[in-house]
Amino acid sequence: NPEENDITMQTKDLEIYYGKTLAMHNADLKFKKNTITALIGPSGSGKSTFLRALNRMNDGVATVKGEILYQGVNINQPKIDVYEVRRRIGMVFQRPNPFAKSIYDNVTFALQRRGIHDKKTLDQVVETTLKQAAVWDQVKDSLNKSALSLSGGQAQRVCIARALAVQPDVLLLDEPASALDPVSTQQLEATLRELKKDYTIIIVTHNMQQAARLSDYTVFFNMGEAIEYNKTRKVFTRPKVQMTDDYVSGNF
Ligand code: ATP
Ligand code: MG
Repeated sequence: NPEENDITMQTKDLEIYYGKTLAMHNADLKFKKNTITALIGPSGSGKSTFLRALNRMNDGVATVKGEILYQGVNINQPKIDVYEVRRRIGMVFQRPNPFAKSIYDNVTFALQRRGIHDKKTLDQVVETTLKQAAVWDQVKDSLNKSALSLSGGQAQRVCIARALAVQPDVLLLDEPASALDPVSTQQLEATLRELKKDYTIIIVTHNMQQAARLSDYTVFFNMGEAIEYNKTRKVFTRPKVQMTDDYVSGNF
């Protein structure tokens, strides 16, 4: 079944607890290669909780039960190497969080830490990933400048390049545009559309227009459950659940 082969990640029977509090259940979802899935829903509905489970980012914070399949393998098991999981499944956060290092060292940080210091290799990665993140032209003449000197939009795209440097398959983004102005937001969306050609992208957003124009699939979360999961066009025009309709039309 070719369709099934395209599924990069899948969750099954997921239950996520903070202590004894059940924060997520009923969230059996599939994420396909070359698609963008938007996770929407009110504050506290569990979007970040769900997203962080996908690359074991909430290890030690939350208890995650059930299966998280990556390329058909359940990565929610103790024997799985979480560093490898996070290499394959990269995360970009709400606030751009560049390190207090040069742009160059930000992008190559993970590679250098793994003992890769060959200048030619690193130069190549820096150019490729900054181009993918659509910020190369803006920073190519200042790669040795501190990443802290960048604008929010530039910093966020450098953070995307940093995530891409380790060649992940999946990009998780938690409200990546919430700290950006409209122009930077548009640029970020263009970047994600371009990256979709190579990646499986999952993005949390509070911006309904953004979800509608950017994503192929949309999941609506409420109170720790995936209430609706469908093609974005359907979610925004003919949702199955009234609650989704209320939320996307701002009557929630
Ligand atoms: P927002 O849109 O405000 O970012 P969200 O949909 O991302 O909200 P989560 O951050 O996933 O929501 O929170 C879901 C629920 O889990 C909330 O009730 C929240 O209080 C709780 N929660 C989140 N993180 C923790 C934590 N580290 N410890 C305990 N409870 C938490
Ligand atoms: Mg959140």
